[in-house]
Amino acid sequence: MGIEYLQLKKKRTGTSISSSSSDEDVSVTAEPLHKMAPAKLYNELLPLKLSLEQLTANGYPFWDQTLNQAVFAPTLTNQRDWVVANDFFRKCSRCSKDFTLNPDGTMSPQKCSYHHRPKFDASIGQMKRTCCSAKPGPSSNGCMTEDNHVFQSAWEDTLWDFVVTPQSKGKSDYRSNKVYGLDCELIHTLNGLEVARVSLVDMKGRVLLDTFVLPQYEIVSYNSFFSGVTEKDMESAISLDTCRLQLFQYINSETLLVGHSLESDLKALRIVHYNVIDTSVLFQSPNPHKGYRKKVSLQNLATMMLGKVIQSEKTGHSSVEDSLTCLELLAMRHATFVK
Ligand SMILES: [Zn+2]
Ligand SMILES: [Zn+2]
Repeated sequence: MGIEYLQLKKKRTGTSISSSSSDEDVSVTAEPLHKMAPAKLYNELLPLKLSLEQLTANGYPFWDQTLNQAVFAPTLTNQRDWVVANDFFRKCSRCSKDFTLNPDGTMSPQKCSYHHRPKFDASIGQMKRTCCSAKPGPSSNGCMTEDNHVFQSAWEDTLWDFVVTPQSKGKSDYRSNKVYGLDCELIHTLNGLEVARVSLVDMKGRVLLDTFVLPQYEIVSYNSFFSGVTEKDMESAISLDTCRLQLFQYINSETLLVGHSLESDLKALRIVHYNVIDTSVLFQSPNPHKGYRKKVSLQNLATMMLGKVIQSEKTGHSSVEDSLTCLELLAMRHATFVK
């Protein structure tokens, strides 16, 4: 049973109370999340964390103690996320062309002609291209051209680079009862998508960490239109190891992390963490006809639920803005579905 359904049953107020409701179900004035003391905030939100079943179904990384590496349960879309060392076949995630890497893992320049993937525009209720006026659907020529293809598959040995968030040091561990928003910006490298910027924010909107991260493999495309990251940003970038150490100043295995499809951020950070609130799961719309629930983009959720424009074409994504938006969505959900 999905979180949203549980919430609707248990917490919805302001509408008719079902006959099974007890007095405890009736609305009381909720304290806004940003005013709550950390421990109270944590306990208030803990019921919203993903179950093991949901972590599995949504492609979150797990730690396999026997193999001493991260593992992912297969989903419909992650079949070629990790490829073995002699598999040089790649599919371009922009233009969908198949190509092969060189035997040393490098790429020879090949023209990549593409459109941006059409997006669902909530304001008009249909799919729309953001790059040009070509109709969504198969199109022979893209409106943009680059010298390289880009791809998502990463070398399988990367699974050994994952680390599990550190265990709590006991009752005095200040990291344990905290809730933070986390978001990353990703860029294309010779090892698929790697993290290039990480932001960690708290419920009061404070930015605790916002840093650029140097990818481990050669950069193929900064993906600047979407990532907002440029070559110049790499001058101040820190290593992934340093970045994770900085994150672990704030986060241990008990910290609640909030994000939108946070599995891709954790995957890029090479971090295994199980205490997660995922706004893409919390706000997904039920689709009873096809038996699955559809995820809504953070951009559309921000427009629909908060009346806010994020990820505008001018500035690209900002991981600070995105993680703050996730927390705002969570606060809105909490205010709507109070105990
Ligand atoms: Zn186009
Ligand atoms: Zn391509």
